[in-house]
Amino acid sequence: MSAATLLRDVFGFDGFRPGQQEIVEAVTDGKNTLAIMPTGGGKSLCFQLPALVRDGVTVVISPLIALMRDQVRGLKEAGVVAGALTSGNTEEETDEVWRNLENGTLKLLYIAPERLASNGAQRMLRQAGVSMIAVDEAHCVSQWGHDFRPDYLRIGDLRRDLDVPLAAFTATADAETRDEIVAKLFGDHPPEIFLHGFDRPNIHLAFAAKDGPRAQILNFANVRREQAGIVYCGTRAKTETLAKALRDAGHSACHYHGGMEADDRRHVERRFQQEDGLIVCATIAFGMGIDKPDIRWVAHADLPKSIESYYQEIGRAGRDGAPAETLTLFGPDDIRYRRQQIDEGLAPPERREADHGRLNALLGLAEALHCRRQNLLSYFGEDPAPCGHCDLCDKPADVFDGTTPVRMALSAALRTEERFGAGHLIDILQGNMTEKVAQRSHDQLPTFGVGKEYSRVQWQAIFRQMMGHDLMRPDAERHGALRMTQKARPILRDEATIDLRRDTIKSAKSGPKIKQ
Ligand code: ADP
Ligand code: ZN
Repeated sequence: MSAATLLRDVFGFDGFRPGQQEIVEAVTDGKNTLAIMPTGGGKSLCFQLPALVRDGVTVVISPLIALMRDQVRGLKEAGVVAGALTSGNTEEETDEVWRNLENGTLKLLYIAPERLASNGAQRMLRQAGVSMIAVDEAHCVSQWGHDFRPDYLRIGDLRRDLDVPLAAFTATADAETRDEIVAKLFGDHPPEIFLHGFDRPNIHLAFAAKDGPRAQILNFANVRREQAGIVYCGTRAKTETLAKALRDAGHSACHYHGGMEADDRRHVERRFQQEDGLIVCATIAFGMGIDKPDIRWVAHADLPKSIESYYQEIGRAGRDGAPAETLTLFGPDDIRYRRQQIDEGLAPPERREADHGRLNALLGLAEALHCRRQNLLSYFGEDPAPCGHCDLCDKPADVFDGTTPVRMALSAALRTEERFGAGHLIDILQGNMTEKVAQRSHDQLPTFGVGKEYSRVQWQAIFRQMMGHDLMRPDAERHGALRMTQKARPILRDEATIDLRRDTIKSAKSGPKIKQ
């Protein structure tokens, strides 16, 4: 199977994250590699995927037993034959590993570093048909770091012994640690080094709640005349109507989607490559093959499906490093549509939940109160300072103290044992005597009707922001019942306050104005 197919079918991802593809290719090709990526950036995929493509078994050395067991469980759930040899194993688990190793079906074998000291393990590895070694948290080989693990020093010998390629991964990027990793793990077979942060500092980030979206896109394009840009649309029909609207406004624009004839699509691709200042209104079908360094802007007429997709799509702008701008529009319909897409998809429940999580992360970014880039990069594991190059750094969000409505909402959830979704909770807060409320006597709750001053749409915005702040999460196993997270407790206990964005609530069309 190809890497792209495995990525989708085994791991459930639509595309690579920045940096992953090059690393996966190098590792699959059997090159010695050292990849430095932020924590949470997606390192495991970079050895797990090549392990499936390559013949034989990949030995993975990782310092944390819990982490190994987690990964093995995940791989097994995805149908991959994987196992771990650690001190925490039951006898059956160890037997299973040996059996799969002997019958040649084992693809990934996780080993705790201290196991490398035993003669038995060394002999076993020599006979096992090991095709490569992957070393997670490779900085543990550095004697000067905090995480030094003496057993990591044996890995260099193991590599020499087995004479197989080695792929090392770490989030620690300083030059000294890097040099030490290279010297101790690779000896005289220096690796190819991949060093990636996720930041694309030349791209300006901005979001806006939908408020006459066609005019919003036209205004954005009008001040960027003659600049090549992409407008990503949620539907094929919209690519056509928006392209026409742009042409009517005097732009050079065309549409692109997967329903077009291959020839027509190629024609658009060629025009985009060659012409200056063409705007393409497209579905996500447009992107994979484009290799145009000077795309000056990317707009989303509709909310992307996840934070990963968002990052990938805006990342097509400004590859030449020159300034580029982005604008992403979102509204309640987008959120409903994206949720529905996930719920009605064919993915198994746990993957659906992960997809909701990736959508929630994007919603959190959309409703962020402070620097977008900080929010975005922290999702990918980085921890940067405020960027000074996003809409929220340009002009801070207009916020109000939302502690009271948030506390009302949390209390409504708690008093109904966290068993209901936003719809029913809003009915309780607004004091709506629905059938469901009556059946469960929820009109008897002290929270019944306490939130009348906010309209339904405003409450939805408040709930959305609460999810964006990770105060509540939908529980996939209970049909999206909202559960409180640890972060919500101080607010309930009166130990913390929370700001909400005024604009997203104000832009909700119906209902009274928020109290100042
Ligand atoms: P690291 O080891 O770099 O800290 P992980 O390998 O644990 O990070 O990955 C972090 C998270 O990113 C995981 O939840 C993983 O499922 C997710 N992830 C990795 N690669 C992708 C991808 N290509 N698309 C979407 N999510 C991804
Ligand atoms: Zn910023």
